[in-house]
Amino acid sequence: MISKEFKEQLKAIVGTDNVDDSNSGRTVYSYDATPKFQALPDIVVAPRNVDEVAAVVRLCNETKIPIVARGSGTNLCGDTCPLQGGVVLLFKHLNQILEIDKENLTITVQPGVITKEICDAVEKIDLFYPPDPSSMKISTIGGNISENSGGLRGLKYGVTGDYVMGLQVVLPNGEIIRTGGKLTKDVAGYDLTSLFVGSEGTLGIITEATLKLIPKPEAKKTILALYQDIEAAGQTVSSIIANKMIPTTLEFLDKSTLNAVEDFAKIGLPTDVEAILLIEQDGPEEIVERDIKRISEICRQQQAIDVQVAASNEEAEKLTTARRAALSALARLKPTTILEDATVPRSEIATMVKAIADIAKKYNVKISTFGHAGDGNLHPTCLTDVRNEEEMERVEDAFAEIFEKALKLGGTITGEHGVGIMKAPYLEWKLGKAGIDVMKGIKQAIDPNNIMNPGKLFAEKTRERMANIQ
Ligand SMILES: Cc1cc2nc3c(=O)[nH]c(=O)nc-3n(C[C@H](O)[C@H](O)[C@H](O)COP(=O)(O)OP(=O)(O)OC[C@H]3O[C@@H](n4cnc5c(N)ncnc54)[C@H](O)[C@@H]3O)c2cc1C
Repeated sequence: MISKEFKEQLKAIVGTDNVDDSNSGRTVYSYDATPKFQALPDIVVAPRNVDEVAAVVRLCNETKIPIVARGSGTNLCGDTCPLQGGVVLLFKHLNQILEIDKENLTITVQPGVITKEICDAVEKIDLFYPPDPSSMKISTIGGNISENSGGLRGLKYGVTGDYVMGLQVVLPNGEIIRTGGKLTKDVAGYDLTSLFVGSEGTLGIITEATLKLIPKPEAKKTILALYQDIEAAGQTVSSIIANKMIPTTLEFLDKSTLNAVEDFAKIGLPTDVEAILLIEQDGPEEIVERDIKRISEICRQQQAIDVQVAASNEEAEKLTTARRAALSALARLKPTTILEDATVPRSEIATMVKAIADIAKKYNVKISTFGHAGDGNLHPTCLTDVRNEEEMERVEDAFAEIFEKALKLGGTITGEHGVGIMKAPYLEWKLGKAGIDVMKGIKQAIDPNNIMNPGKLFAEKTRERMANIQ
């Protein structure tokens, strides 16, 4: 519970209109895109500039009130659920593109800018910001940086963190620091920029970011490869990479995802096949032609029953947009959709696709699988109902076994969605106790009062490992 005095102090900092402790206001920010987690904040605050952010954070630190930074709340690990109440911090006033520097190829933005606005702004001047989470029309850059989000173009171009050159951060004690900058080379001390990337709001508040831009590719082409055997589709992914081809996009959709997407988007996707690969290449025209020809051959060698080339950029865009809608399309089918993020080395994608199908059968749960297969990053998505407790236990066991299998194959428990509350009980499986202790040491040094997004990353109890897993 916050005191009346605390509330008045917040109002004095950000103005009465930017503080909301009404029941409806608090309820809106009590949950995010992750099912199962909900907790009310005490108050919602929207600072208008960095100095106000710093003043709010300083006040929270002095009074030991938790603070949860929130972009658009689209994260899928419960990261913006205010588990211990306190302040939810919004960035609706910090939503400006501050500068596009055409000489240094950088863009500097405030944290509340929507990802797609960045992509659109730079493409107009033939520059390119590649990270493109499927949520890019709604997610904010502050959220993308804090989750180190990936996207459909991650295979060729990498993830958000690969484009973050510098940050302005408000530390938990209210101090404002700058890390990195516009320099392509800078090794002055520890890489603090990377420390804040992916830190899930647990180390500080990002108030500004300078991002790397690259020249916009001249041309692009998209193909769909159709399969009657899902393992053959998985094998194709490994084979394309092993043949030294790096497409921009290499996405996998299984039959049930495909059906849901077609039902939702109605763009004429084939629904009588077991799986498809959506593959895009970009670059100079002649390279794109050459690569698409070679990739199509590899698909056929790996038993694709058909390979279709999108006739125009508009048709290609429709396919990519439909793929981006996969989660929303699946979410229409059942009351609860739990999307996971197991990731394996690319050479193991076929094994992982089969393992997920076997595990779903073993636990008698409905799992649709899609994802950034070229990155080894699959999204097994369980369609369930949180009110069915018996089924939820089976769902949780199935996911535990999926994570265990991914780790056995040299993979990880999350490729791009972060740990939050959702994956915290599994983090020690990946990092070991010594790894967790290093992370706790960093957290303690920067945020000794544990005010920044408490209850995330570090679990009270690590989940038992599954027995007898192959
Ligand atoms: C339909 C759908 C599709 C998706 N597709 C993808 C995908 O393709 N790839 C992918 O990686 N993810 C994807 N996601 C997950 C999600 O969109 C990303 O994690 C995204 O980066 C979250 O952005 P947000 O603005 O919603 O952040 P939020 O969910 O509001 O916050 C995410 C984290 O960032 C922290 N945070 C936010 N702003 C700041 C700040 N200024 N300073 C410090 N911490 C801050 C929060 O505390 C929280 O820990 C998808 C989600 C949905 C619902």
